[in-house]
Amino acid sequence: MDRSVRVRFAPSPTGALHIGGVRTALYNYLFAKKQGGDFIIRIEDTDQTRFVPGAEEYIIESLKWLGIEANEGIGFGDGPYAPYRQSERKHIYKEYAMQLLEAGHAYYAFDTAEDLSSMRDRLKATHADAKYDPITRSSMKNSLTLPEDEVKRRLESGEHYVIRYKLPLNEEVKLFDEIRGWVSFNTNQMDDKVLFKSDGMPTYHLANVVDDYLMNISHVIRGEEWLSSAPLHVLLYRSFGWEAEMPKFAHLPLLLKPEGNGKLSKRDGDRLGFPVFPINWVDPITQEVSTGYRESGYLPQAVVNLLAMLGWNPGTDQEIFSMDELIEAFTLERVSKSGAKFDPNKAKWYNQQYVHKMKDEDFVPFVHKALVEHGLDHAFDEKYLLNTCRLIKEKISFTKELWDYGRYFFIDPEHYDEMVVKKRWNDNIPALLKDLIQNFSSMETFTQLSIETVYQETLNKNGIAGKDFLQLFRVCLTGVSGGPQVFEIAELLGKEKTCKRIQNALEKIKI
Ligand code: GLU
Repeated sequence: MDRSVRVRFAPSPTGALHIGGVRTALYNYLFAKKQGGDFIIRIEDTDQTRFVPGAEEYIIESLKWLGIEANEGIGFGDGPYAPYRQSERKHIYKEYAMQLLEAGHAYYAFDTAEDLSSMRDRLKATHADAKYDPITRSSMKNSLTLPEDEVKRRLESGEHYVIRYKLPLNEEVKLFDEIRGWVSFNTNQMDDKVLFKSDGMPTYHLANVVDDYLMNISHVIRGEEWLSSAPLHVLLYRSFGWEAEMPKFAHLPLLLKPEGNGKLSKRDGDRLGFPVFPINWVDPITQEVSTGYRESGYLPQAVVNLLAMLGWNPGTDQEIFSMDELIEAFTLERVSKSGAKFDPNKAKWYNQQYVHKMKDEDFVPFVHKALVEHGLDHAFDEKYLLNTCRLIKEKISFTKELWDYGRYFFIDPEHYDEMVVKKRWNDNIPALLKDLIQNFSSMETFTQLSIETVYQETLNKNGIAGKDFLQLFRVCLTGVSGGPQVFEIAELLGKEKTCKRIQNALEKIKI
């Protein structure tokens, strides 16, 4: 029988959330929405030594910014399986550790740090694998080697202990991964992982499996780095007798460096100038700042789209997808097995596409913000702003570029492109500019078409060829050599400003 889809994103609050983690959250979200299931956020904070203040809030804020909304869990409201923070579920796990102990699938171990390191030294000397496992546990201090009454005495005297999983010797553990197919591990390659500690805290493995079971998770979709933990998880489901409830597994491919060798890291971002975090993060200890996509001027829709395409493809040429389109198209079958190379140029391209696609009215707030920064927020009406938005957004990749690119819509040029001036200015120009001012001034309607007509007539009268002068005319109005159609700019600026700018150019351009 098909069970209802429930997936979870289960980050540990150990610092900023890498975009690989964001992608994991996104794929879980897309999968849940596509299947009409639930998406849950669970915070896995059992390792108190790695807890970083602010990290949990950071993760939630990042997901909200991107529109990756959960049905239940931290940051999105409790559901029937609360609490969703493992530190608040501490009381739950001991019972399960005891269950494994009683069934002979786990054991107490009392080894000190020195015991463990001398075991490692001993094993390294003989080139054997230095791990606590079905062979080496027989020479360590645990409830399998110590007499029963001593185990009891140690437990009663409050000695530190851990509960380890008792791996079967030389057993093939097979699991079906929805992306990779059948994967097989031999327990000889694994070790007796710690599941629980005497301070009452479970480790990741126990808490993760118990919670997935208790929260009725149907699919575990997570990064490839957890694939090597999956056989232990399968064994745990077996030992608990929960095989029928075991979720399906899907391990997502790594995000790779642009060069393709190794995992994408913050250092790659710093080196090549792109963010690897969704939003800015300030490390609470070192104060080191990691730049976010949000603060770098990326639009959330673009980030969602570009992350979706890193490791998944729709099987068609379509590259631009809204969230709804992604939900519609997403399947685990189309997630690739091999790592996805991060391409910083493609990331920029995605943002550019979304900036170009933006509605003029959605772009207005960005222009407004720039105007406020330059003390010009009341200088222009809504209609003017809408028109400038239309012309500016087609030419930029990031909203933050709008001032550099389109400042001339709002302030008179202070500089004039030197190359153009040098090439095109000559003794006939001042007279022509004066004529233009005069002829423009007497126009009744000042539209793109009528401006062009009067401009052409004036040029003809002065015996100057259009192609020689057009670029200089643009520089007089805007200061720069490129941009939208120059007569369109003139219409937008209006008659007065156009004439004033020509006058300014006449006075300011010196050869
Ligand atoms: N807490 C783990 C992490 O930080 C979760 C791994 C999993 O999804 O099982 O990624």
